[in-house]
Amino acid sequence: MSRFTLPRDLYHGAGSLEELKNLKGKRAILVLGGGSMKRFGFVDRAVSYLKEAGMEVQLFENVEPDPSVDTVLKGAEAMRAFEPDWIIAMGGGSPIDAAKAMWAFYEYPQITFEDLIVPFNFPTLRQKAKFCAIPSTSGTATEVTAFSVITDYKKGIKYPLADFNITPDIAIIDPDLAETMPAKLTAHTGMDAMTHAIEAYVSTLHCDYTDPLALHAIKMIHEFLKNSYDGDKDARARMHNAQCLAGMAFSNALLGIVHSMAHKTGAAYSGGHIVHGCANAMYLPKVIKFNSKNPEAASRYADIARFLHLEGTTDTELVDALIAELKAMNVSLNIPSCIKDYEGGIIDEAEFNSKLSAVAELAIGDACTGSNPRIPTQEEMEKLLKACFYDLEIDF
Ligand code: FE
Repeated sequence: MSRFTLPRDLYHGAGSLEELKNLKGKRAILVLGGGSMKRFGFVDRAVSYLKEAGMEVQLFENVEPDPSVDTVLKGAEAMRAFEPDWIIAMGGGSPIDAAKAMWAFYEYPQITFEDLIVPFNFPTLRQKAKFCAIPSTSGTATEVTAFSVITDYKKGIKYPLADFNITPDIAIIDPDLAETMPAKLTAHTGMDAMTHAIEAYVSTLHCDYTDPLALHAIKMIHEFLKNSYDGDKDARARMHNAQCLAGMAFSNALLGIVHSMAHKTGAAYSGGHIVHGCANAMYLPKVIKFNSKNPEAASRYADIARFLHLEGTTDTELVDALIAELKAMNVSLNIPSCIKDYEGGIIDEAEFNSKLSAVAELAIGDACTGSNPRIPTQEEMEKLLKACFYDLEIDF
């Protein structure tokens, strides 16, 4: 038995934020990030729509990037005092992820993060509130997924939460909000979405329900990401939809080791963070080559290449054509080909090598590894990471 879960309603298209007018409830708490939504006037608009719906509105602002346990607990406390029957999270992935966790602590004050990190083990939510998510970036698709990532900075631990209870009730995919993204963020989040779709398509948990979403997302991202990066408004709007389709696919089919590696290299080095979407973009071509040693995975990648009308006849030719195409996309989006060249070389080579074995072990243990079509050994994962650092060919 498999389960496929999505939000009950998706509103999409320019101006769809206005749908907030039609929510039925008494009190709404609006969970927000750093302030760009306020600066661009979207917070005022959301508040006035909710008031038009007859609701009392409270703001919970300043959720930080990579939201912390402390922020989640503070938000849950604010919710317990205000007793909203709607939680509305608006902004990038962080405020939406944080609000999902706040929701659990609001409804179940006694719960702990240790309870919540057991995958698909949440208590039944929607006892007190429903959840509406409104993304302003085009990548994480947290507005339609069953996932949230919360960081405990004191313990230095990231808690990946996964449960269909936290799949939102409503997602509003309004491209007007995504217009606020700077070009670099557009490139990184766009390639994150590409990675979601490709990993979902070759995942061992892919199914008839996730395949069409993944394939169409890949086609749209291939077609629209570059123009969106260059500032084309229509392409930006299409990307907002495409990343959401990719999210629907991977929320149900899960991901693979590109994400395992991006998660565990992201904050491992003292030179700086490797931004999630950029890490995925750099690692994806290497992982495709590695996974394609599994003939079944190779034929899935070949499907993708054919769907994109890339040249080639055999699976091997088509896999190589897909890899070449993704590398060309990276070049066109000013994404480096390897960690050594990331942000002018901020990741120190000696530190990378000294941590290689530990990072490899953590990446193998990541929640995304289980659904990858080829499970790497410790030695293979170390070689893969090295190939991602130095841009080496994969021949194993
Ligand atoms: Fe991702």
